[in-house]
Amino acid sequence: MKILFLDHSGVLGGAELFLLDVARRYQDSCLVGLMAEGSFKARLEQEHIPVRVLNKQAIAVNRDSSIWQSLMSLRQIVPLIAEVAALSREYDVICTNTAKALVVGAIASLFSRRPLVHFLHDILTVEHFSQINVRLVPGLTNRFAARVIANSKATQTAFVSAGGNAKLTEVIYNGFVPERFQTSSANELQLRQELELEGRFVVGNFSRLSPWKGQHVLLEALAHCPDNVTALFVGDALFGEDEYVDCLHQQVAELGLHDRVKFLGFRADVSELMSACDLVAHTSTSPEPFGRVIVEAMLCQRPIVATAAGGVVELIEPGATGWLVPSNNAEKLAEVINECYADPDRSTAIAQRAYQYASQAFHLDGTCQKVTQVLESVVADQGLTPIQTGTVL
Ligand code: UDP
Repeated sequence: MKILFLDHSGVLGGAELFLLDVARRYQDSCLVGLMAEGSFKARLEQEHIPVRVLNKQAIAVNRDSSIWQSLMSLRQIVPLIAEVAALSREYDVICTNTAKALVVGAIASLFSRRPLVHFLHDILTVEHFSQINVRLVPGLTNRFAARVIANSKATQTAFVSAGGNAKLTEVIYNGFVPERFQTSSANELQLRQELELEGRFVVGNFSRLSPWKGQHVLLEALAHCPDNVTALFVGDALFGEDEYVDCLHQQVAELGLHDRVKFLGFRADVSELMSACDLVAHTSTSPEPFGRVIVEAMLCQRPIVATAAGGVVELIEPGATGWLVPSNNAEKLAEVINECYADPDRSTAIAQRAYQYASQAFHLDGTCQKVTQVLESVVADQGLTPIQTGTVL
């Protein structure tokens, strides 16, 4: 089976890291078509996964695009659609991984008569997107997609509420390779030395810097914790949220936290950095569609506290595999941090239980098997003979 994956992004967000993991399994029989140059392309090349930047002009639809802007950009993407339509004839199935890729892939699929599967990574509500974009994904998938793979029940529910056809949907969680999250205690010590974190209780936050990722909530919580508690922010402003970054630095100054906070920017060594933390805090103020960081913390055997909203509540059993706190509530977050600080044995026991759970429930093998089943059934339903047999999972 030959697969054409489409993603518009040049940078490595959670959706792109998911695609990287899935595409790796189809290395010999897939192509990842991108609509921008950038670190995502570089990473695919580094891992020898076939990748091509289609029409070099990036599409200008953003989350808040008006109808007019969207139509203008649709005019721009006609050559891109033509390119994808021609290219997709060499593949059995088109898989779109972002909303912008869906716009292109859906129309191209009509011309090339190839089935379309959409990977849905977003909670489609007006909290996150413009009204037109909330309607666009269900509208296009209802008309053009053979299946929609949602990354959580929360994502699936929002899709259906926005008018999406429930019968198209299947929930498949992100998958991980547990071995990739094992690090040695020598590495942890070395990293702690390098980052001058020895003797500190380190709370890590691993997210792009964006208002709804709630880094400000962790800063506020820090002010309610002992001086020994330090926050490590790993991630960058991926989509131009520079104003928010300035606000965070101002908040650090106002709260007098400059010697208790470190901003490391985007890092590729997330598992090593997580292992150097005592607790991982995931602080989104809006419902998180899935929350890869939560599973990653579990696989690093680090205790995790996260906001109780969206897909996150499907990942953590409070008190058994982690902690859940209400959204935007710095006091409750500080309570959990202080609890973990005061009782490291209990935190370690919870982290170990979470590790056992996550390494079974979120294994990449299971995710890829389910994705393969969906893709094979879609190709079979079309009565197509697969062009080339790919990796058997
Ligand atoms: N991540 C990373 N480097 C960083 C910060 C984050 O590789 O500096 C990764 C993180 O490990 C996770 C992903 O980015 O795999 C973020 O996924 P998540 O689902 O948590 O959020 P999203 O970006 O999809 O909103």
